[in-house]
Amino acid sequence: MTQASEAAEQSAAPIEPPSSPLSLAFSRRGRPTPFGAQTRKPPVMVVDAAREAFYSTHFPNSTAEQWTDWRWQIRNRLTSVAQISRVIALSPDELMALSAKGGRLPVAVTPYYLSLFAAQGPQSPLRRTMIPSMAEFTPSECEAADPLGEEDDSPVPGLVHRYPDRALFLATDFCSAYCRYCTRSRRVGKGPSRMPAAHVWEQALAYIARTPAIRDVIVSGGDPLTLSDRAIEHILSRLRAIPHVEVIRLGTKTPMVLPQRITPALVKILKRYHPLWMSVHCTHPDELTPESAQAFARLADAGIPLGSQTVLLSGVNDSPAAMVPLMRGLMKNRVRPYYLYQCDQVRGAGHFRAPLATGVEIIRSLRGHTSGYAVPQLVVDLPGGGGKAPVLPEYLAGVSGDDLVFVNYEGRTFLSRDPATAALMRGHAEA
Ligand code: SF4
Repeated sequence: MTQASEAAEQSAAPIEPPSSPLSLAFSRRGRPTPFGAQTRKPPVMVVDAAREAFYSTHFPNSTAEQWTDWRWQIRNRLTSVAQISRVIALSPDELMALSAKGGRLPVAVTPYYLSLFAAQGPQSPLRRTMIPSMAEFTPSECEAADPLGEEDDSPVPGLVHRYPDRALFLATDFCSAYCRYCTRSRRVGKGPSRMPAAHVWEQALAYIARTPAIRDVIVSGGDPLTLSDRAIEHILSRLRAIPHVEVIRLGTKTPMVLPQRITPALVKILKRYHPLWMSVHCTHPDELTPESAQAFARLADAGIPLGSQTVLLSGVNDSPAAMVPLMRGLMKNRVRPYYLYQCDQVRGAGHFRAPLATGVEIIRSLRGHTSGYAVPQLVVDLPGGGGKAPVLPEYLAGVSGDDLVFVNYEGRTFLSRDPATAALMRGHAEA
């Protein structure tokens, strides 16, 4: 789709009345739009006061209307040393890494997302996930370009079929912002365009259509919500037309890095293809802003069940101080914490890899201290395509006669009568 037709599609978005006390009208700065008089009032998108100050300073020629346009955000991504250093003072290490050629992943960050960490130092959580460091260039032995062996489970390009009833449809290799620990860094950000060649989608759709065992399709990428409305509707309508596809899921980081993309027009499309679920890649409580709250509210109001996926990252979110407010904040936004992953052994991301024991302690800090709904499942995605293995803190400490011995979240011991299980456990211990 051309930019012109995408722009036309965007301008046809329905009007949404202001509904939130956080909503600020486009006219707050009172500037004329660069496109002349509006014939239709655009939907109201939240602009937090901190963001308004940011774009007034760093994008002085932009308008609120542009700032809240997701296409403007993508067009104005910061991708080079020159662009990024206009906004933040880069450390010598960051400068060297940004200038180095042959990095495994391109650099890109939306102006919106950059605004969340622009005032913070090089070791701040979100900055570490977006701005490369020289540690990326020193991979360790156990790391691989494709740590999960996805290519081996790919019967056609752009599709991974590992579990019998689920398939992963990699609809694009484009993201609006590139995470430095990306598991798919071998493929994302490499192509010139958001849209893959038409035959790639066709092959993937044909494979799903001729494989009746697939009842659940996860549309991911890259980030599928960087595609145009028309492209997203094309994919969803084609999948919904396949009788054995019961559930469609979208995997995306868009509500965190580009919440402006969750327009009323997009939500109207998504609503047409229920049952449709969404897994949102969330990293840190700093991502929970009035803008992301508006995006989540629109999705949840459209009946889309929302779940979160978080990667446990050293120096970013590997502490209860980061993870507890993140999980509670997601719950407040109607996003059910779903998975907490140990960082995959992807090449150049070793400096992000926190020990699994840290993840166990974080789960322990959540369990019992906050609602069970706010406790994600800690998993390791096993190297080489073994799939997800759940890991739990140990609460069942042993047996005592016919009783099971439990240690609760406060470290106190309790007995629970269960002779059959106690006998089984004794048998296992003796074997
Ligand atoms: S949003 Fe997902 S696919 Fe895109 S760079 Fe981040 S981890 Fe990779």
